[in-house]
Amino acid sequence: MKHKEYDVAIVGGGFSGLVAAGILKDHDLDILIVDETNRLGGQYLKTHPIRSNPDTERNSLQEIGFRQIENIEGGRVKIMTRTRVLEINDRRELLLEHDLEQLFVLTPEIILLAAGAREKFVPFKGWTLPGVISTGAVQIMMKGSGVIPAEDMIIGGSGLFLYTVASEVITNGGRVSTIFDENSIIQKLSFTKNLIGQGEKLKEGFGQAARILFSPTRMRHRYRIVEARGENELEEISVAKVDRLGAVIPGSERVQPCECLAVGNGFAANIELGLLAGCSPEYDTDKGGWVIAAAENLETSVPGVFAAGEITGVGGAHKSITEGKLAALSILNKLGKIDDFQYADETRSLRKERKRHLQFGSAFNALTHLSPEKINSISDDTILCRCEDITMGQIKGAIVAGCRTPVAVKRAIRTGMGICQGRICTPVLYEIIGGFTRTPIHELTPLSVRGPVKAVPLEVLAKPISLLKPDFPNG
Ligand SMILES: Cc1cc2nc3c(=O)[nH]c(=O)nc-3n(C[C@H](O)[C@H](O)[C@H](O)COP(=O)(O)OP(=O)(O)OC[C@H]3O[C@@H](n4cnc5c(N)ncnc54)[C@H](O)[C@@H]3O)c2cc1C
Repeated sequence: MKHKEYDVAIVGGGFSGLVAAGILKDHDLDILIVDETNRLGGQYLKTHPIRSNPDTERNSLQEIGFRQIENIEGGRVKIMTRTRVLEINDRRELLLEHDLEQLFVLTPEIILLAAGAREKFVPFKGWTLPGVISTGAVQIMMKGSGVIPAEDMIIGGSGLFLYTVASEVITNGGRVSTIFDENSIIQKLSFTKNLIGQGEKLKEGFGQAARILFSPTRMRHRYRIVEARGENELEEISVAKVDRLGAVIPGSERVQPCECLAVGNGFAANIELGLLAGCSPEYDTDKGGWVIAAAENLETSVPGVFAAGEITGVGGAHKSITEGKLAALSILNKLGKIDDFQYADETRSLRKERKRHLQFGSAFNALTHLSPEKINSISDDTILCRCEDITMGQIKGAIVAGCRTPVAVKRAIRTGMGICQGRICTPVLYEIIGGFTRTPIHELTPLSVRGPVKAVPLEVLAKPISLLKPDFPNG
């Protein structure tokens, strides 16, 4: 006899997954939500103090997030944190690993992929030196452990996240001496028109700008970090002016001392689980690159597998919240819990909201677009794949030798085969191959993904696998 399965398994406890669980839980469904981190909340709440601190002022997004967490605790929502989804197959079977101790398998009726995004980087010579860190890491150190990485730091790259992190460093008593932004001041200012009518984002943006403007931080536009240097750790950086298209202007390089450099170039969607499940990807620069393609109701190309949040396109917390709601209602409609009229009625305004958030996302992602000129400026001796120490020159060599697809380059020189499984280098690898072979990126087949999608010790994989059945301590 077939055992009872979960009705819905949600992968990812960020805004999109949380909001979806909050709606689904009121409809007599058995729901599982898994997240690999210690607590729910995803990228946004991960970097904010835990709710037990009553002295901390929360913004409205944090309020929404923490309220959602309280809302789904208990009842028929099973929450599994410290649990990673290692694999999904095209029969909707999920393999979970909990605490490096237990393995579980389940086949829910519906899967909602809400796995979020990660940071994107444009490599430069020396970026692997100790002292060079990512902007996201700075945020986690400050908010997670109350540590500022250095007394004085420099931030470089592109996109609005540079300013979010700079403003947080300043708020926490640190000093950011300079922000080197690859975009021009006009590009940045023209972005602000996308904030009109978006009260919360506008307030947040102006708050960050004010903190930076009233601090000693210098802002340098159209500058790129071209090299990080030091004997055993970072001692100085070389920066250069870039032109309108992002190419380095020869002769404009200058060197300055630096003990800590934080870099970032926007975000890329975590599409790997979707690819494993057989979902079609799409490449769209407006959405930040490769994403999991989803219909208007957020169902992917695989029936019964939905996607919501950054995984369908980088667009910020508000988009993830809207998509979490929309996906939940679409799932309820698919499971026959709400009829077509109610569905159409309840999703009308959400669809409009989503369009607005996608427009915002498009402008947000334009600031971090990897143009061919930017890619061409990466020197041949720059390490691209940090895990396998593969340089830009080796990748170009492989392309010249006839490897014209990401998979061919991977097979030839092992790019993306290290411990991070290409999470860091693949976004830029597509752009390099597309640029040098003059192939539109959407025509390049994305690298195939094999489980486990996360690094896991073999001894864990050798453990017996248990069936995960619905089990709710509170009801
Ligand atoms: C480093 C970083 C910092 C950010 N900081 C900010 C900020 O300060 N302000 C802001 O407005 N926006 C920030 N963002 C953007 C933020 O991600 C969105 O605004 C929004 O919160 C995304 O919600 P989400 O639900 O789509 O994804 P997320 O919040 O990213 O949630 C996805 C969740 O899925 C989990 N997950 C992924 N893969 C697996 C797996 N295989 N198994 C189990 N769990 C998995 C992750 O642990 C994560 O908790 C940041 C993004 C990143 C990448």
